[in-house]
Amino acid sequence: RGNMTVGDAAKLLHKDASEVIKKLISMGVMATINQELDLDTILLLAGEFGVEVEVKIPVEDDRFETMEENDDPADLQARPPVVTIMGHVDHGKTTLLDTIRSTSVTSGEAGGITQHIGAYQVEINNKKITFLDTPGHEAFTAMRARGAEVTDMTIIVVAADDGVMPQTVEAINHAKAANLPIIVAVNKIDKPGVDPDRVKQELTNYELVPEEWGGDTIFVNVSAKQKMGIEELLEMILLVAEVNEYKANPVKRARGTVIEAELDKGRGPVMRLLVQNGTLKVGDAFVAGNCFGRVRAMVNDKGRKIKEAGPSTPVEITGLQEVPLAGDPFMVFEDERKARSIADKRAITQRESDLGTQTRVTLDDLFQHI
Ligand code: GDP
Ligand code: MG
Repeated sequence: RGNMTVGDAAKLLHKDASEVIKKLISMGVMATINQELDLDTILLLAGEFGVEVEVKIPVEDDRFETMEENDDPADLQARPPVVTIMGHVDHGKTTLLDTIRSTSVTSGEAGGITQHIGAYQVEINNKKITFLDTPGHEAFTAMRARGAEVTDMTIIVVAADDGVMPQTVEAINHAKAANLPIIVAVNKIDKPGVDPDRVKQELTNYELVPEEWGGDTIFVNVSAKQKMGIEELLEMILLVAEVNEYKANPVKRARGTVIEAELDKGRGPVMRLLVQNGTLKVGDAFVAGNCFGRVRAMVNDKGRKIKEAGPSTPVEITGLQEVPLAGDPFMVFEDERKARSIADKRAITQRESDLGTQTRVTLDDLFQHI
């Protein structure tokens, strides 16, 4: 935005404007009181007056959350919880995701070709749950490292025959760092001779104490392979969701996070994203990371073409000009021009920071007396 005027500079330096103008003239700068001065001139001027100034480069807040339209509280509605499954390798994460997915396809949705879009929704007791099925840790860690918060809670899978292992501990640490509610799924209870209580005992060392032992962590015994305990697990997820009252506003432009993106030979850039707030519609102009796009086609996790997707819905879309990164923020803007200009601006900022150069200086809040 605008530079600082001579008048502003005078105030900042605790001098009369006339004094400042005189000084400027002596420096060879012809100025009037309303004239704008650039940063270098102001620094020179301050030096002339023997005032030290500290230049603060404001980091522009370009997070999409802060650009979102405000919500009318009356528009907020409960939204499905977004759940990730984590745990040690071979403890059954993939099997559990597959089992949940196959056991909970509702009749209304049956018939679609299941589509791998990085996340899927199931329905139980007329309520939906969204599962991220991107390969657990890596995707989650990558997104978190990039500041993307997509999950509401995490299921930590621990195989009853193996117990707490290094990646179990890692998963617990991730969840705690992200302040996420944890549900422990003790898996493989179909295996002969296993003792789920041993897992509970081990997890008390990590402050995960079951309710029956005086703690507040929900434990569910499951067999992903034999499809045991799955419904109870889903009910517990809904319970945690109810307690936390996850809400969103479906009546505004969509904002979300890119889950996966790639270049498809036939379709061009394809992006899978989670809509986190608002409703995404075919035709919407958007920015994903630094990429501009317009939603050309949208498909849900059942392989169905859809025209709209509300909060917590995972979708696959085409219509991008480039391929964004997993974890990139996504937002719809009021028109194509706005979206393009935001994408361009973000691309420039990105390029500058890649080059290690400073981003453009604005003079708001720039100076501070020492
Ligand atoms: P991931 O590495 O955590 O994704 O684990 P997988 O889902 O790939 O499972 C690892 C192995 O454990 C596979 O051979 C599964 O068939 C097996 N497995 C998963 N869940 C169960 C279960 O509930 N019971 C038994 N007996 N085996 C299981
Ligand atoms: Mg797996």
